Amino acid sequence: MNEWDQLWIGAHIATMSLGGSAYGELSDAAVAIKGERIAWLGTAAEGQRHAAADDIDVRDAQGLWITPGLIDCHTHLVYGGNRVAEFEQRLCGVSYEDIARAGGGIQSTVRATRTATSTELHQSALVRLRRLMAEGVTTVEIKSGYGLELSAERRLLEVARDLGERSPVSVRKTFLGLHSLPPEFAADRREFVNRVCGPWLKALTAEGLVDAVDAFCENIAFSLEETQQLLEAAKSLGLAAHVHAGQLSDMGAAELASKWGALSADHLEFLSASGARALAAAGTIAVLLPAAYFTLRQTTPPPVALLREAGVPLAVATDCNPGTSPCSSILTAMNMACTLFGLTPEEALSGTTRNAARALGIQNEVGTIAVGMRADLAFWRIEQPAELSYGLGANPCAGVMHRGTMRAELI
Ligand SMILES: [Zn+2]
Repeated sequence: MNEWDQLWIGAHIATMSLGGSAYGELSDAAVAIKGERIAWLGTAAEGQRHAAADDIDVRDAQGLWITPGLIDCHTHLVYGGNRVAEFEQRLCGVSYEDIARAGGGIQSTVRATRTATSTELHQSALVRLRRLMAEGVTTVEIKSGYGLELSAERRLLEVARDLGERSPVSVRKTFLGLHSLPPEFAADRREFVNRVCGPWLKALTAEGLVDAVDAFCENIAFSLEETQQLLEAAKSLGLAAHVHAGQLSDMGAAELASKWGALSADHLEFLSASGARALAAAGTIAVLLPAAYFTLRQTTPPPVALLREAGVPLAVATDCNPGTSPCSSILTAMNMACTLFGLTPEEALSGTTRNAARALGIQNEVGTIAVGMRADLAFWRIEQPAELSYGLGANPCAGVMHRGTMRAELI
């Protein structure tokens, strides 16, 4: 039996794992695949010598760049309806308050999600998922959070699971139980939080629908105490956690996420030096969401210098959602991370590969190109990796491999 099934030669490889060179670059490189895994990395000449003795499928990448398959580690991809009417109303002069009074905002998405069928939810999310996949994405995190009742949250997580099972992409499922208070609990938020953290979380976890939990910790959403209740419940069930932290104000959510060992704290426009130090000490990843910042026309970017100085790894994601980030382009998010937040193009690519994998706790599987890692690869028609963050509306993806299988022939 061959040690390798495929050998790719003639590529520039951004391993994102080797020290000593920018992007962990290997030029004139070759990568061998066996089954779902990366079996070998080296020079094209060595690879060909080895392959000549055996019956191995040798493929020429013709000078393309190969990176780890991209990872979108923060999305709300599955939801009913959209918010385009509100977008237009606002630009025609209707105020946020009037839109909210008329039942707009997040609650309109909750209503549309509750009334949508699973098929409708699947089909609309698949359109967005395909856009991400076309840009080299091989892993997507998908949050629930627009159902806000057990049956509707279950449906969102089932649709997320099915998307991963029916498409050549890996899906991580996050129960965003504390996203927004549904109107039926307006008079009893304690009861809602108790249900989310108690029977709902237990039931969904038992059904295999939850990889991690998440909470929107913000003065317009859920308090530190309420968020802590969910983190505590998650820990007792052995689940990982993420926290929407510091998007609109600094309530100390980053410190709380760190204290409970959350995998990631996401947004972080408002973050103190002590918050950054806490994240670093806990190994919690900062997930930056520049498309939400752009859509909301925020003016205080996350303190990137502070995060760098503290040694917090930075990830970048789309935050794809109908209200504050109608973005299903990971490359656009990378561009915005550079133009709006000042990340270097190498940080942006680390943010959608190595560090995004860490933000999901799957860094031993994906996010870098190294022997033993899963063969999730993206092929790019570019001169240098910075081009991935440079273009706006450009998609230089020439091919994608998921679990050792090309999704389509190289273009
Ligand atoms: Zn979000």
